[in-house]
Amino acid sequence: MHPGELFILSAPSGTGKTTLIQSLMAGGLNGFGGLAFSVSHTTRKPRPGEMDGKDYHFVDQATFQSMIAADAFLEWAQVHDNYYGTSRDEVFPRLEKGIDVVLDIDVQGAERVLARYPQAYGIFIMPPSYEDLESRLRRRGKDDAQAIARRLAVSLWEIRRYDRYHYVIINDDARRASEVLAAIILEKRHRRERMQARVQEILRDFQDRGSPPS
Ligand code: ADP
Ligand code: 5GP
Repeated sequence: MHPGELFILSAPSGTGKTTLIQSLMAGGLNGFGGLAFSVSHTTRKPRPGEMDGKDYHFVDQATFQSMIAADAFLEWAQVHDNYYGTSRDEVFPRLEKGIDVVLDIDVQGAERVLARYPQAYGIFIMPPSYEDLESRLRRRGKDDAQAIARRLAVSLWEIRRYDRYHYVIINDDARRASEVLAAIILEKRHRRERMQARVQEILRDFQDRGSPPS
């Protein structure tokens, strides 16, 4: 079986990555069979409305450190004063089953995953402007003023690293951005190598039924 693809999505916090991924999953791509969101581990406290096991695996420092010691992470990083990590278990068993996996991770994590798994595709989601990013962070209303200032302060550093990614999506219009993301994923799924098993089935059907032209 052809392995699934690994898609790494990064963006400055507040750009709309979570919204984009949720709309992608709700939009039926799951129904195509096989698109999984990798749920990261974090030491950050849950925001109102976030669910353990769905948005993140919320763990304490000691648990996170023991997972580092056990080499349970494909990558981990300290982002905005908290630890975040992608466990190997969220990724590799699915790829092996031919399921595509989406990672929502920061720029440092993306670099590490691309170094360890160069077949992955990096997709950088960019806010249309500084002003838009600032107003999205404020409107989201889930971070205090100090946290918003910290997130804005690192956004330039993050945006400058866009050239490490294969794709760039500017998240101006949410619907358009989600269509572009779906298009990238679907394009990969229709590569000839990936279609091989299905093509062979159809080919066998034709071989069984049709007689060669004389
Ligand atoms: P991220 O996951 O990148 O930190 P979120 O998905 O939480 O960002 O989005 C931050 C805020 O911006 C939310 O209030 C969301 O509703 C809003 N938002 C997301 N995409 C857009 C868009 N294209 N245009 C305007 N607002 C958006
Ligand atoms: P938030 O606290 O807003 O959910 O996420 C803050 C940042 O951490 C975002 O840039 C997000 O992409 C990143 N992040 C989430 N999970 C992981 C992870 O497993 N690894 C890394 N390196 N970054 C992550």
